[in-house]
Amino acid sequence: MKSFLIFFFFSISLLSQQDDNKISSDVKLVVGIVVDQMKYEYIPKFWNKYGEHGFKRLINNGFLAKNAHYSYARTSTGLGHATIVTGTTPSYHGIVGNDWYNPAQGKEIYCVDDNNVDPVGTTNKIGKKSPKNLLTTTVSDENRISSNFRAKTLSVSLKDRAAILSGGHTSNQTFWFSEKEGIFVSSSYYMEKLPDWLIEFNSKKNIHNYIDFWDTYYDIDNYIESGPDLNNYEGKFLNKKQSIFPYDLKKLSKNRDGSTDYNAIKYSPYGNEILKDLALKAIIEEELGSDDITDFVHIGFSSPDYIGHKFGSNSKEVQDTYIRLDRTIEEILNFLDKEIGLNNYVIYLSADHGITHSPDFLADNKIPINKILSSKVFPPQLNQYIKNISNYNIFLDKDKIVNMKEDIDDIKIKITNLLLSEPWIYDVYDFTNFKYFETKSSDNYSLNMLLNNSHPKYRGDLAFFVNPFWVKQSSSTSNHGTPTTYDTHVPIIFYGKNIKKGVSYNKLNVKDIAPTLATILGINFPILTTGKIIVDAIK
Ligand SMILES: [Zn+2]
Repeated sequence: MKSFLIFFFFSISLLSQQDDNKISSDVKLVVGIVVDQMKYEYIPKFWNKYGEHGFKRLINNGFLAKNAHYSYARTSTGLGHATIVTGTTPSYHGIVGNDWYNPAQGKEIYCVDDNNVDPVGTTNKIGKKSPKNLLTTTVSDENRISSNFRAKTLSVSLKDRAAILSGGHTSNQTFWFSEKEGIFVSSSYYMEKLPDWLIEFNSKKNIHNYIDFWDTYYDIDNYIESGPDLNNYEGKFLNKKQSIFPYDLKKLSKNRDGSTDYNAIKYSPYGNEILKDLALKAIIEEELGSDDITDFVHIGFSSPDYIGHKFGSNSKEVQDTYIRLDRTIEEILNFLDKEIGLNNYVIYLSADHGITHSPDFLADNKIPINKILSSKVFPPQLNQYIKNISNYNIFLDKDKIVNMKEDIDDIKIKITNLLLSEPWIYDVYDFTNFKYFETKSSDNYSLNMLLNNSHPKYRGDLAFFVNPFWVKQSSSTSNHGTPTTYDTHVPIIFYGKNIKKGVSYNKLNVKDIAPTLATILGINFPILTTGKIIVDAIK
């Protein structure tokens, strides 16, 4: 009888424990890692060069979505970071570009500019930023609200838009890089002054330690996955004549007047290194993940984007950046094991967009890519009615059309016909004619990519979809911002507490990350979530 009773009580307590696990998660820390410009392909492409304890540890012991995409046309940084944390598309979260035209103001705005806040840690304009243009809540906003604001959020990136949009409206501390000064700064939206530990971290002595000699991590002859180091596609880096390894960054970053060009940090793997150190220092100093209330840390690695733009997605520099980032991730994991505890944290890793190969590289290799030299193809009699063309939208000057006694529909038809005669145009859509939408099928990829990108507040009169073999002329070697799979296909990785080991081949959406996390944490979804829970990722 006695042993039966012991067994009985033991079973009851085990059962109730299991039931508890169904509801609450006991995650101490969520670490969101977003690698700027990391297309999905970089995982299999460089797999044999990765160590056992970075990407491989996350993937072999966690969950990998092999077929996750963005579902809107303008695949750029601001929109990507916002989509990951809000669980919805730009059509709802309102970040429809890095910059976009606001018809109500009659001007283009930058996604995180805010003239009503003051710089903190700098007097520079780079500090006048906030998330005021983000039109929904984020997963870490909901986490703070749900915990009665006992939970904390910290967000860091070299890019202001990456740090600010990831952090959401309620981030306690958000820091980004002022490249002119070589320091991390913030704004009065978040705080009155920088914390002492950051002031110390910002000292010149510290940051100059990161500007190092950049040679390949392994012998460059082993980098068979990428193109030749010396080629015709790469941009010039600092004042080096040819963009080939090695880069003596200490020397190359010295300006004539003795000052330092901090692009040496941004455009090298040492940008990831300093950001990682900043994030880990912040976790310790701010005691994140130190109690049972779930905290959030957002880390946005921007250097892979700068490097990819300058050297191109098929470059040795990009390959070396990912080999080194793999080691950086290993260091983050080792730190979290030690400081937070192996079974106390959750990591998600994704990217804000992918990257299209250099158009010249593709053209030289029989992919019939052409360059769009300008989208301003209109004769003066039509051009006078166009206020703005941006993010695939055309905004008409309707007042002028009426004043000139012209017919708006007639002008639209003329513009549409002219565009359709251009080889780089795939199709043009009338964004104000709702009857017309009903005639389009719901699985029309091009129309949906444009609609998901379009918030009604910032919607143009016409929108166009570009032929996939045409890319915009750009000063960058590689670029993104298109609706092709080069730019839409990114990894989603989950790892840690309550994450089921596995892989998914289903077509998933990057907006699925936030509701999946919210489910694991048992908190409200971001308020206009349209993503789905990735059921396969949850234990
Ligand atoms: Zn970019």
